Amino acid sequence: MATIADPPLALSAMRELQAGIAHSVQFCLRLARAYLDMGLVEAARKTATQVPDEGEEGQQARLLHLEALARQAAHGSVLDLGGRMTEETPGSSWPWRAMAHAAFVVGDRARAEEAALRALAYLPSAQDVTTCLAETEAGTERPSPLELVRVCADVGIGPHATVDCLVPVLWDIRPTTCLFEDGLEFVLEVVANAAMGTSATQQGLLGLARYLFGAYGIRTAFLRYGALAEGTLRPMGKAYFSRAPELHAVVEHLERLYWDTFRNGEGSRLSSEQYLREEGALLGYAECCVEWAARLREAGESIETAAAQALIYEEMTASVLEDSRVPAPALAYSAYEFYPCDPRCPAAEAQGQRMLERYAMVEGGFVEWVRGRVIPLNKARIAQAVGSPPYPQFVRAFNAELFTASLPRWQRSWLQPER
Ligand SMILES: [Zn+2]
Repeated sequence: MATIADPPLALSAMRELQAGIAHSVQFCLRLARAYLDMGLVEAARKTATQVPDEGEEGQQARLLHLEALARQAAHGSVLDLGGRMTEETPGSSWPWRAMAHAAFVVGDRARAEEAALRALAYLPSAQDVTTCLAETEAGTERPSPLELVRVCADVGIGPHATVDCLVPVLWDIRPTTCLFEDGLEFVLEVVANAAMGTSATQQGLLGLARYLFGAYGIRTAFLRYGALAEGTLRPMGKAYFSRAPELHAVVEHLERLYWDTFRNGEGSRLSSEQYLREEGALLGYAECCVEWAARLREAGESIETAAAQALIYEEMTASVLEDSRVPAPALAYSAYEFYPCDPRCPAAEAQGQRMLERYAMVEGGFVEWVRGRVIPLNKARIAQAVGSPPYPQFVRAFNAELFTASLPRWQRSWLQPER
């Protein structure tokens, strides 16, 4: 056994001890993470507080501690610890997220708004995008839809975003389209690879905006809001796409409207009928469907559940139980996460019909694609609203499905498992 009196051995013992401590700090961090994943929140909190409060590891431990406090609904402590953390690392979005929710739950809406906007600071503002595009000339390329799916896949934009957002804008099917932040993760490799919520994300999103404008004349605008569900506030972003020059001003106005309504709202429900109506008009949705959604929202009912129930009922009764010759509802589901007022709403069906006719003139193969893949996936998304898998999981499945479908037939059969 080495003794302290023996210099070379003492050195090696110290090195061993040092390695042991480093190892145990790493071990504590991993253990705390594992406890959190297992739902053992108090054990996670205690483990995280054992890590010395310094350096990068101290920072990681504080994040775990904060997550544990947030899950314990210790809102006051979240606001205290989060506040200290944002002073030390102002660029990190996670403490702001936790604080936005905590402030919302304790009823401090002004503080919740400020924290949510700070959490979403990595989303470029309308001004950021305008400045970024100032030197760029609007592009006029108009590749066929399937070609666009392939080109965009090459620059990291997934088929879901291309099919639902870019093709309809490029081919004048819809004036404006939109994509939720969960979907943005699938838009750019740079976003997928960088930790969400950093300045690298902002650079990636500005790069996306510049590419879409320079190549196709498509403008991108980002909106920062808070998703409210069952008493929780989750800072979220949306991206809007359009060729109209006024897009940035309209989205800026919509964002302001959202936060004004939020600040004046009461309880855990956000009264956002007006927001819903203005957004519906921006996206070019059928008026009856927008009005139906706004009234449900006014009554405090879930649009998603109502739409899912109506679709399942219509599909099962009209098309399966009553008369199998009646085709299943389809045309009203031409856009992802558009909720028609009725599965056979004439106005929404007419929009779907116009879309298919327009695509038929451009590229026959794409119409088959939309009929056979996109509309069934849009319907599946709505039908699964009750107890659905989380949005990112669904979009991942959506992308995999569309990507396989976009391959030439021989490659598709090559990808099939051998029978
Ligand atoms: Zn309708």
